[in-house]
Amino acid sequence: MRHLICPRLCRYFKPDRPEEEGCGGLTWLAAHPQLESAVAALAPDPGAPLFGLAEDDPRLMRVCAACPYRPDGCDFRDPGAPRDQCAPCGGLRAVAGLLAAGLHLEI
Ligand code: SF4
Repeated sequence: MRHLICPRLCRYFKPDRPEEEGCGGLTWLAAHPQLESAVAALAPDPGAPLFGLAEDDPRLMRVCAACPYRPDGCDFRDPGAPRDQCAPCGGLRAVAGLLAAGLHLEI
């Protein structure tokens, strides 16, 4: 799942950086490998960072609530960070893309 998400959908991905702990979205999707083909079908640049979903969509908020980067390493969920400099990570974008495509995910 990681190879379908990080290099394609995440602006924070750096190929030369050692593999890190996954974000909340990647962790959730890695536990649901049956969704791999749906993730592979997501367009990397759909024209909206969260594929048209609201930033405060409760399903996305739950993904972020379980993310190890949330407390101290995520500008996107930091209310004090300038909004124009924040972007969601690839894992959250992948979940958003599936939801926007109409998949029902038990998050
Ligand atoms: S947007 Fe931030 S808090 Fe949410 S899953 Fe990504 S890194 Fe974690």
